[in-house]
This record gives sequence, C-alpha cells and structure tokens, in this order.
Amino acid sequence: MARRDVWRPGTQWRRLEPPEIALLEALTAVKFDGAAALRAQIPFTTAQQGCGCGCGTINLKVDESRVAAAELARDGPVQGEAVVSGGGLILFADGGYLRCLAIHYWTDEPLQLPDVSDIRTYLRDWNPLPSCPNRTTPDSRREL
Ligand SMILES: [Zn+2]
Repeated sequence: MARRDVWRPGTQWRRLEPPEIALLEALTAVKFDGAAALRAQIPFTTAQQGCGCGCGTINLKVDESRVAAAELARDGPVQGEAVVSGGGLILFADGGYLRCLAIHYWTDEPLQLPDVSDIRTYLRDWNPLPSCPNRTTPDSRREL
C-alpha cells in the first residue's frame, strides 16, 4: 500500500491507548513550566491518526470544558522530548492544550509510537521553533 493511502482526512477521534498515555505521561514528567497542567489534561484527551506517511503520529484533542489550559511559554513543541532508536518524539501544544504527539525518524520505514520503556526523555529549549507538520486544523477541531 502506498504511504499516501494510509491516512484518510477525518479519521475518527478515539480514546487514548494505554501505551500512548504512558508516552504522554513520560513527556510531561520532564520538568518544564506548564508540564503538570499538560499532564492533568491526559484523562480528558482523545486521539486521531495524525500523519499520512504511515508513522505513529497522533493528533490530540482535549475536552477544554473539563480541564484548564497550561501556562506555556509559547505554542508549538513543548520542552519535554524523547529520543528513541531511529528517531524521536515531540509533543506539541496549542493554546495551552495538548495537540499532537509526533514521531520523527530517519529510518527507511515510518516509525510507530514506541513503548515507553524504549524512550529517553530530556528537556529541550527550542530555539528556533520548528512548525508542527501535523497540527490539527480548525476543521478537525470542530468535530467535537
Ligand atoms: Zn508521519
């Protein structure tokens, strides 16, 4: 199957799987401003396939009526990141809410999200900021 065929726009929002929750908890266990508030959002977060290349990137959507926004320095990648064999994980926030858990890779085949025991987290001070290739669009947010 061609990679382009993997993703369909409008893929359904679903509950987070336990391995995804473990990754989000690990990335928000890194000590940075707003991390604890992001962590508190995890129980109110749903996921959607977030990339068309076949990797495990997921878009995230928080029920903003049930939990507060995090006070973050800026939108975009948060400071908690992780490396994994062949790539890494970047967590994105927008407006103080979880938006995207992206996996990037330099392997030939797209990486899936790893097991939390296979990652090493670290604090990253982004400068300059990359843009998230997988940001949710206004359309996908309206699906709430
Ligand atoms: Zn991808």
